[in-house]
Amino acid sequence: MENFDIAIIGGGPAGATLARLLDEKFRVILIDEKTDDENSFSKCCGGLLSPDAQKAFAEFDLTLPKDLLVDPQIFSVRTIDLQTKFERHYQRFYMNLDRRKFDLWLESLIPESVERFYGRCKEITQQDKLYCLKCTDNDGAERTIAAKKIVGADGANSMVRKYLYPEKEIRRYTAIQQWFREENAKPFYSCIFDPATSDCCSWTISKDNVFIYGGAFEPKDCRMMFEIQKQRLSDYGFKFGEILKTEACVVLRPKSPFDICTGKNNAFLIGEAAGLISPSSLEGISFAINSARILAEVLNKNNMTADKVYGIKIIPMRIKIFAKVLKCPFMYVPSLRKLVMKSGLSSIKITKRN
Ligand SMILES: Cc1cc2nc3c(=O)[nH]c(=O)nc-3n(C[C@H](O)[C@H](O)[C@H](O)COP(=O)(O)OP(=O)(O)OC[C@H]3O[C@@H](n4cnc5c(N)ncnc54)[C@H](O)[C@@H]3O)c2cc1C
Repeated sequence: MENFDIAIIGGGPAGATLARLLDEKFRVILIDEKTDDENSFSKCCGGLLSPDAQKAFAEFDLTLPKDLLVDPQIFSVRTIDLQTKFERHYQRFYMNLDRRKFDLWLESLIPESVERFYGRCKEITQQDKLYCLKCTDNDGAERTIAAKKIVGADGANSMVRKYLYPEKEIRRYTAIQQWFREENAKPFYSCIFDPATSDCCSWTISKDNVFIYGGAFEPKDCRMMFEIQKQRLSDYGFKFGEILKTEACVVLRPKSPFDICTGKNNAFLIGEAAGLISPSSLEGISFAINSARILAEVLNKNNMTADKVYGIKIIPMRIKIFAKVLKCPFMYVPSLRKLVMKSGLSSIKITKRN
């Protein structure tokens, strides 16, 4: 059994950012199955980089390589209420990315001093003051890793969160995305509200001649609701070409800032594992990066009460989640949404040439 100061479980935006920022004085290991093999793990995601995430990179003085971008960059979102058939356009400032390339790029920034374990953590136990992680590598070989501190950066379905807070339930949806050969006349983003099939939202994104349609659905009957909604969108005029890929995963949607859990007893949670994701837009990359930055600052200071300090430093992010919770009724309660959309507030007018 090998001993580390810090073991990070999960190498998405949260885990990769933390691994990049931790002081080299620590012996750190990052556990994640993703490799640059095309068939290896790829996060089911819209791959839109929000202004908050762009700001996080600006604060690191990092620039984004252009080969992470996909074609085209789009400046507005078509917001559609399928119940009322009401539609509005809103200006957006996202960057349209290849999410898999983005994750690999973040990993490429990790210093060599961080050891990599390509595989998954299967079990967590505690012995004296050490955490013992039973892991299986991508070839099926087992290894046990011991660490003084562990960090759960393992996303929505976090095993670290379940280990630390077995009773904790954060509202969860099943996100399903299907990739199609593009058949729509023009690439576009859309945000879809359809209370008949989901009380959350759905979206479409065009990327490199592929049309991605995805949505977040209650886990029960999620696949059926996805297909019903797809048919309703088809009736509305969306074109779904040949299916190239279908993917699904859990996505969290906190109902309150108290849903966020940051960890205890030298075990920490960052990113979506902590429940840090916008309940209004499901934007999570900025929360993942910013929570990792905060935890790195705390751990690098070698604070004896790091878990408490981290919990306090995350309060502004809790407040941000609370602000998003307050925004939700205006997006998700049909009568309020109708009022907002009818008012035209913040919407833009599209001028089409005949
Ligand atoms: C369908 C969908 C679309 C989305 N679109 C957007 C978007 O356009 N823009 C945006 O900002 N956010 C979006 N989000 C949210 C965003 O993807 C997440 O909030 C963000 O990826 C969280 O980053 P993370 O590093 O915390 O977790 P993740 O990105 O989920 O990374 C977790 C990592 O941990 C690894 N892992 C999990 N369990 C283990 C284990 N036991 N052992 C080892 N490794 C493990 C996984 O393989 C993964 O690499 C979307 C989410 C979904 C579901």
